[in-house]
Amino acid sequence: MSKFCDACGRGALTINLRSKSEQAVKSQQNVNLQSRKVDGCKVKLCTSCIKTMANKPGVVKIVKRTVRLAGRKTKQTAR
Ligand SMILES: [Zn+2]
Repeated sequence: MSKFCDACGRGALTINLRSKSEQAVKSQQNVNLQSRKVDGCKVKLCTSCIKTMANKPGVVKIVKRTVRLAGRKTKQTAR
């Protein structure tokens, strides 16, 4: 399961959590991904892309699409 936005390609960030003594602990900050249907195809989009799609239609373009072919997941780059 990929944790990347299909429109902008944003993924998880590695961040440093710091205690009071400034000791750093590495942690992961994931993108808020939600599944939406775009042109009859199920894609995962981050919430900022969904917001942009609602306000400015036609600005956000789906770059990567996960297409299910015969039960197998294959990645396809759509133009
Ligand atoms: Zn996005």
